[in-house]
Amino acid sequence: MIILFGCNNDEARQKASLESETYEGPIIDMHLHADGKDDIPPVKMGFCTPVSTMLPYYDTRQDFNDVWDDLFANPRCDNPFWSPKNYEDYINQVESKLTKNKVIAVASGSIENVRVFKSIMPNNIISGIQFRVGRDSISAEQMRTLILENDIKIIGEISNQYGNIAPNDPRMFPYYKLAEELDIPVAIHLGSGLPGIMYYWEPEYRAKLSNPLALEDVLRKFPKLRVSIMHYADPFIDELITMLYHYPQLYIDLGGIQWNYPKEYFYEYHLKKIISAGFGKRIMFGSDMIIWPDFISHSIEIINETPFLSYEQKADIFYNNAARFLRLEENEK
Ligand SMILES: [Zn+2]
Repeated sequence: MIILFGCNNDEARQKASLESETYEGPIIDMHLHADGKDDIPPVKMGFCTPVSTMLPYYDTRQDFNDVWDDLFANPRCDNPFWSPKNYEDYINQVESKLTKNKVIAVASGSIENVRVFKSIMPNNIISGIQFRVGRDSISAEQMRTLILENDIKIIGEISNQYGNIAPNDPRMFPYYKLAEELDIPVAIHLGSGLPGIMYYWEPEYRAKLSNPLALEDVLRKFPKLRVSIMHYADPFIDELITMLYHYPQLYIDLGGIQWNYPKEYFYEYHLKKIISAGFGKRIMFGSDMIIWPDFISHSIEIINETPFLSYEQKADIFYNNAARFLRLEENEK
């Protein structure tokens, strides 16, 4: 066997180098948060990846808020990510990361925050609108006006999971109907939040609502709806594969999960499973940048370092799949 392979040594080497080639083309980031002045903490917050090991264990005698405050103030890793010193620094860092890495980002945030991002970085931002039933008192009709008046290209991030609202909750139906009618996609958060987030920032978050099977009712009722599952419903991989298989219009974004777990685990048990099941044409890159702009380049690096992805597959994840999902070329005409 060794001798046989030896005959094709050059070819094999060429193939290997092509497979490991770093993608340097344009990138679409489907998952970037546009934050406002009040979202930037007055003191720098440190953050360690992977998130799954950030708080390796927790003793219930401790106060959960104190534990997290301490982790942010004194991150327990060698090279923590640090939040910007102020809003201006935040905007400058985001702009420089997007430009340097040739990224066009779908920005999720309030209308006002997204408007600021779009005005400062017109060529790097596609406008989205974040939404949560109950928290945001925007009727479907008001949503229509907001979309049309602000050139909104996508309804997302829809963060209902943080409000204990399932994707198939009938309260969402008027918004799905609107999206279908206007032919704009929706991007729905399904997946892991920070460990213990229900004891801290988001008391209504439910992990069980990450299961993407709940989307089946939605895709049956709204067959023309274009849906992206943000964070690819991590970690419900088998359920996700069921959904990708049966609903070929369904897309996913990686949404930061690349740094949620040790990358070997992410590669082997998540990305490789989705790719090897045959769904490489529907995975879209997403950094989930919130207040740490370095997440943009960090996320790009993790995908580029994936040991089993060919250059073509990287190009699909970084750009082609999202361009198709967003109908980018058609929209530019
Ligand atoms: Zn999310």
